[in-house]
Order: sequence, then structure tokens, then C-alpha cells
Amino acid sequence: MLYINGKWRKTKQEMDVTNPATGEVIHAVSMGGKEETKEAITSAKQAFQTWKKTPGKIRGDYLNKVVHLMKEKSELLAETITKENGKPLPDARREVASAIEYLNWYAEEAKRIYGDTLPATHPDKHLMVLRQPIGVSAAITPWNFPLSMITRKIAPALAAGCTVVLKPAPQTPISAVKVFECFHEAELPDGVVNLIIGPAEEIGKEMTSNPDVRKLTFTGSTVVGKKLLKDASDTVKKVSMELGGHAPYIVFEDADLDLAVKGILLSKFKNSGQTCISTNRVYVAESIAEEFGEKLAEKVSQLKVGNGFTEGTDIGPLINQGALVKVENQISDAVKKGGKVISGGKRYEGETKGYFYEPTVIQHATEDMQIATEETFGPIAPLFTFQSEQEVINQANHKYYGLAAYCFTKDLGRGLRMMEELEYGIVGINDPAPIVIQAPFGGIKESGIGNEGGKYGLEEYLEDKFVSIRTV
Ligand code: ADP
Repeated sequence: MLYINGKWRKTKQEMDVTNPATGEVIHAVSMGGKEETKEAITSAKQAFQTWKKTPGKIRGDYLNKVVHLMKEKSELLAETITKENGKPLPDARREVASAIEYLNWYAEEAKRIYGDTLPATHPDKHLMVLRQPIGVSAAITPWNFPLSMITRKIAPALAAGCTVVLKPAPQTPISAVKVFECFHEAELPDGVVNLIIGPAEEIGKEMTSNPDVRKLTFTGSTVVGKKLLKDASDTVKKVSMELGGHAPYIVFEDADLDLAVKGILLSKFKNSGQTCISTNRVYVAESIAEEFGEKLAEKVSQLKVGNGFTEGTDIGPLINQGALVKVENQISDAVKKGGKVISGGKRYEGETKGYFYEPTVIQHATEDMQIATEETFGPIAPLFTFQSEQEVINQANHKYYGLAAYCFTKDLGRGLRMMEELEYGIVGINDPAPIVIQAPFGGIKESGIGNEGGKYGLEEYLEDKFVSIRTV
């Protein structure tokens, strides 16, 4: 289903949506291409003329209506996520709650967009900075958080006074349709939000080349992000890019080991490791490496793999066959280069269909392994060792990626030094889950440009206009 200018539209061309836990087709959805994208952009442009002048309080009221509707449908939304993405139902429920929280936060922020007055340098001049919505915003979202990545973009855009055309991931379009049903029921004015499902490249091309799109916001892989950045440069669009990561997770000898082990279960294995802030490399001080590895392997072997709808499941399937093959390749490469699997290490056989992999811990990881530099997006924790603080800082700072980093130590001074030295956009000190709505979420280096969340997320959809008024 497409949603253009306040109306649902079916097309002849359809694509299948698959449940990664069973490999079975669960739905066929209508697809649109270049023409529909163009149409959606035109309708967003028309709607922008009114939406930008709609008082922030009223824009916020619309968002609050969506909050209300999503709360009413929260169980259905969670089930949709589990069906399309495979994650355990309790995690899907948490995602729904967080998706709603973004809408709720920006409903409040919509009425708090302030400008500035500046001191003049001439007695007859009056200087102002207006903060105005940038215009039509094109949003492209991934499948790993199919609901919250949508509201994290659309909520601040609408709060700021922008209108939106969204292209969700092909793996999880029904979650997007469900959110748009809420937008429709909330009676958002026609054209304020538009949904296009279909071939990524074709839709992306129109989004990046159409001069009426003034903002492009993307969450996905670095490869695609770079392409979109290049394409968007022709029309000099404002961009936000939330791209790949390669998070280090550093455990010093003075860390609370139980806390650090528990933290990896969250930071590495939640969502089967398919999160851009997922731990990719675990660095453990050499003196505690054996003990730490044993403790971690024991806990990891207790994680329950299975269908997300089965009660007690900790780890669902990977998204597709390609993801499974990537995990297998990284493990065989690591083993070839001296890595030792101490937990997991093979496809999960408890389910006969779907893309399941056992949560895996590999000891004796080294810098020449693929896993040391290439994003995994799967449930493998490779354990590296280090001897000194400086050595681990050098190892942890990645040449290309800079999204999230974690560090465990009880030494406050060391914690502060690591906070300063880690070249990442998000740093958790003794905190494996540092993401909160009020904080900026964004990477440095090739992990991205710009931020989402809190007041920072709103900035991405606003432009400053300087006005100098001379009164005589
Ligand atoms: P992944 O490999 O994890 O699926 P992608 O970066 O390929 O990550 O996908 C993230 C989002 O980007 C999805 O919505 C996908 O359809 C979209 N996408 C992929 N390629 C392009 C492209 N060439 N132009 C526009 N969007 C794209």
C-alpha cells in the first residue's frame, strides 16, 4: 500500500514480505516507483505551505493524536514487528513504546521552537534569527527497528513544520503501513505524510534528485549512505545520515565483571546483534581475559534462541539468508586465523526453518580478522586482549567507524580519560544501553552526519534565517 496526499493506493505491482523465523511469505504489498515518488513529493510540497504556518501547538496536538492511536494498537504493532523482523515479542513491545515516546517528545517540542534576537551594532538596526522548517523531507529507514526508526524521523520533522515522504525497508513495510494508518486516523492534513514502498534505487534517485526535497534523512548502511550523499549533493540538500558502526566494548581489570558480562548480553546479543550500536569488538584486559571469557560463554550458552512469538525467546532469527552467510563467513575466517569458539559457532538447529544462528563467543580474536574491521550485524562476540590503557585506545578507535563505544571500569579518572579519547558519537561508561530519547544519537567519521533525539533531532529539520531590520 502506498499513501499519497491523504489517500491509500494499491498498484498492480506487488512485493512479498517474508517472516525471517519461518522463511514464509506473510504478505504482499503494493509497490510504487519514480512516478509515485514524484507525486508524493509534489503533494508534500503543497501541504508544506499550510503545515509550516500551522501553530506548533496544533502540530503537537496532531502528534499526540497519533500517540493515542498507537497506544491503542500497540499489541498489533508489536506483533507486526515480530512477524516481519523476527525479534522476540517483548523486544518488539519495547520498540513500540520507544516509537511512541519519540512522537510524544516531539509533540511537546513542537510548541518550543524559539528564535533569537541579537544585539545590534547600529542604533537603528534590529537583528533577528528566525528558525524555520526546511521543507519537504525524504526519509529512508531500515528493517532492524522498523517502527521506531520511522517515528524518530517523522516526529521531529512534523514538529518542526516539515512534511515527509517515507520509504521504509523492503523487509518490513507493513510496520510502516500500520504507523501510517495511525496518521490517517489522526486526520493529519493531506500530503503532510506520504508513504512509498518499492524499488529502493528508483525511489532513492527521485528523492535525491528532486529539487523540491530539501532534506534527506537516512538510516542504513554506510555504502548506501555514501551513495545518497553523493546524489543529494547535486541539489545541495540538508542531510542526516545514521550509518554503520563497529562498537568496541572495553573491559578493564578493575571493572565489575558481572556487570560487564551482563552488558554484553544486551549490547551484543539484543536484536541478534543487528543494531548499529551493537558491540562488534570486545577488548578484555589480559589479566582477566580467561575468567571473563568463561563467565561470558556460560551466560551466552543460556540464551534461548527461537521464534519471537515463543515465550522466553531471547534471540530471534537474522533478517535473511545473506545475513546468515555473512556471520558464517566471519566465523570461519576468525577460526582460520586462530580464533577459538567457546560458545555457539553454528546455525541453530532447534528451528527447522528461518535464519537462526547460535549466539557465539570467540576467544583469541586478532586485528587481521574480518570481524575486527567489518561490521557484523549478527550474534558474534569476538574477544581481543590488551595490556595498557593507551594500547586499547589505539585499538578501539576505528579508522572509519565512530558510532558507539562502551567502557567498563571502576576507576573514575580512567573512565573520564576514556570518555575523552574514544572517537565515537556515543560513549557508555559502565553503561551498555546509553540510548535515551533526550540525548543525541549520531555517529562521527563514516558512521554519519547529524543527530536524532532530543532537541538535537529537531535542529535537523530547521533552518536559521537572519533578518536585519533598519528602522530609519
Ligand atoms: P541493509 O543492508 O541493512 O538492508 P541498506 O542500507 O541497504 O541496509 O538499507 C537501508 C534502507 O536503505 C532500506 O530502506 C533500503 O531499501 C534503502 N536503500 C538501499 N539501497 C538504496 C538506494 N540505492 N537508494 C535509496 N535507498 C536505498
